Amino acid sequence: MRIKNLSILGATGSIGASTLQLVRLQPEHYHVFALSGHQQVEALAKLCLEFSPNYAVVSDPVSAKRLSTLLQERHCATEVLAGSQALIDIATDPLVDCVMAAIVGAAGLAPTYAALKAGKCVLLANKEALVMAGDLMMQAVKDAKATLLPVDSEHNAIFQCLPVNFLAPRLFPALNLAHHAADFGVTKIILTASGGAFRDLALDQFATISPEAACQHPNWQMGKKITVDSATMMNKALEVIEAHYLFGLAAAEIEVLIHPQSIVHSLVVYTDGSLLAQLGEPDMRIPIANAMAWPKRMASGVNTLDLVQAGALSFKTIDPERYPAFSLGYDALRLGGTAPCILNAANESAVAAFLSNRISFNAIAKVAREALNTLPIQAARDFDTIIGTDNQTRAYVEQYLNTL
Ligand code: NAD
Ligand code: MG
Repeated sequence: MRIKNLSILGATGSIGASTLQLVRLQPEHYHVFALSGHQQVEALAKLCLEFSPNYAVVSDPVSAKRLSTLLQERHCATEVLAGSQALIDIATDPLVDCVMAAIVGAAGLAPTYAALKAGKCVLLANKEALVMAGDLMMQAVKDAKATLLPVDSEHNAIFQCLPVNFLAPRLFPALNLAHHAADFGVTKIILTASGGAFRDLALDQFATISPEAACQHPNWQMGKKITVDSATMMNKALEVIEAHYLFGLAAAEIEVLIHPQSIVHSLVVYTDGSLLAQLGEPDMRIPIANAMAWPKRMASGVNTLDLVQAGALSFKTIDPERYPAFSLGYDALRLGGTAPCILNAANESAVAAFLSNRISFNAIAKVAREALNTLPIQAARDFDTIIGTDNQTRAYVEQYLNTL
């Protein structure tokens, strides 16, 4: 196998770190071509010294200067670039084979979309990009014959449980496999959800939840934003939308169940009564390794699940009183057009406000619902419409927060 050039967008985050752990296991198969790390200069410098990428990207000139100085002092030849165009450049460089899209939030959309338009193999962790611009992203995969591989653990599980001919036309059209959707007998998919940090907390305690408490996840080690999203279950709302775009399924074909053990990562239900599931330890190195090595497999360094140790596995339906944000994903799909983009932007703004102690935990779902119900929804025509909607929603939420 030829060595693959990999660009990691968001290398200093939780998904970025897991991706680099896998690169360490297979240095003969992957060359780290480029890394990005927003303003996390020290962490990025450390990674540059270890992996010697061709490029390192930060978000602003001040961070670039600091990073360049650190690298020069240690005789590291990595070239430092800054700004949003630099992220696009490292995602689309002709030398790049694979792009790990692991920036959190809307900031990841432009480079991820550009990578797809350039026909790259994109390993998608950044679900917000697909939620914002699902139709445009899927069209780009088709037009550029790109490859889109889901890293989100639930979607990667579904990906592993669906027949390759079902997936190919949408996710790797270059393979040109026959597609007879009706023949596959897929009745629905079931995404599993851990239930987040407050799955057992008394409902009357929700108003006083602190950012610190919301940033603790019982099963997964993740960045702050997605950990809060797991606690509100907005994460699952976004994942329903993500699944709709990735697998071409209608809202009615996507179900969600709470599975507190996070062992069964999701399931596909077939018409003959078969349920296919993917199981494993709750460790993102498994889905990342699956996407990195696809269509082959690689060792991930994660222990194989011990079924006896894992014990009983339980499943239950979602209590809408506990998780008012959850149904907003279905609402946004039903509304269509730019509604998912509005939901995503409102949630990002609300989570940031919660993390800086401006609003309560309960207000997050309220803000997202208010934006979805109030703002005009348009056809998701082009990239400018998406960016315009994102900006308009953030401005609206900023005003609305002052009224709370
Ligand atoms: P994180 O907060 O740990 O890391 C985010 C990365 O994005 C960092 O490298 C940070 O420097 C960079 N970044 C942040 N803001 C930026 C900006 N404005 N411009 C450019 N770069 C910026 O987040 P994470 O947990 O690694 O999650 C990354 C993405 O993967 C998210 O979309 C998340 O939903 C998704 N995801 C994560 C997990 C997980 O287990 N962590 C699981 C499934 C999906
Ligand atoms: Mg997930």
